[in-house]
Amino acid sequence: MNKKPLPGEFELIARYLAPLATACPGAFGLADDAAVLDVSPDRRLVVTVDAMAAGTHFLRDDPADLVARKLLRVNLSDLAAMGAAPLAYLTTLALDGEADAAWLEAFAAGLAADQAQFGLALAGGDTIRTDGPTVLTITALGTVAGPSPLRRNGARPGDLVYVSGTIGDGALGLAALKGELDQLDDGARTQLAERYRLPQPRLALGQALVGVASAAIDVSDGLVADLTHICAASDVAAEIETARVPLSTAAQQALAGQPDLLERVLSGGDDYELLFTVPPDAEGEATEAAATAGVEIAAIGRVTASDPELDKVRVTGPDGDIIALESAGYEHF
Ligand SMILES: [Mg+2]
Repeated sequence: MNKKPLPGEFELIARYLAPLATACPGAFGLADDAAVLDVSPDRRLVVTVDAMAAGTHFLRDDPADLVARKLLRVNLSDLAAMGAAPLAYLTTLALDGEADAAWLEAFAAGLAADQAQFGLALAGGDTIRTDGPTVLTITALGTVAGPSPLRRNGARPGDLVYVSGTIGDGALGLAALKGELDQLDDGARTQLAERYRLPQPRLALGQALVGVASAAIDVSDGLVADLTHICAASDVAAEIETARVPLSTAAQQALAGQPDLLERVLSGGDDYELLFTVPPDAEGEATEAAATAGVEIAAIGRVTASDPELDKVRVTGPDGDIIALESAGYEHF
């Protein structure tokens, strides 16, 4: 294959990255030492960062535009989980010898498409060479209105547990890409793979839930693991019913043929839906927030008092029996 080497650092910035910064006036065309961003006095700054390493979080032959979009979207999903609106982002690109000009051009095109869709722009960053594998990092900045963003620590016994969208598509999409779900029809396989490669950050829903939800998190590690994070931060426990967990038609098809995939749905992660708790008297407001955001939400269980004798999150099947899960979710180490 004909590899076109990367240009020098300043040419690289001018050609591939500076165009991403034109919509961010405080970025000064990436030509100054730092960016200067205006934040209105009634909003607070929210900051998050995510990194992806080649060979671990994405594969060398994954399309570079999709890698870029997923990296930006997982950051945006964290902003959504705080109830924040996107403001700007920074990139740190540590590139190995495999990253050529065509790869970087596609990577920048992916960022250009998504920053236009989600209303933010590049504010700055750093680009370095590395002898190790390529590591891509995005830091996202957002702002949240009012005194209290969505946090993990506000769930109280009696609150309802909700999720947005459908659960399990991310994990089943990864399985489909690995060739594990051959019994599915092509349409279902493609649908699941797309959900894995291109999550939908629930930004509008997150912002609409500020002042309504008592706690929130985005589903990245797995439904049960992420609900456990809320329970730990809030010092409560929770019960969810598998029958109420919303599934896409593709996921239903996968489960019909292979019921043991339920474990993957509940603990697989990579859904980037919002998981949140709502006090019983705010259910109507939660329904309104979802309608405003144009996103489906479903109540899947409730928050209970914490009990040292019991698991923090108990999952019950259709017959009311508690289902024991081998693993609650993904851990990096
Ligand atoms: Mg998160």
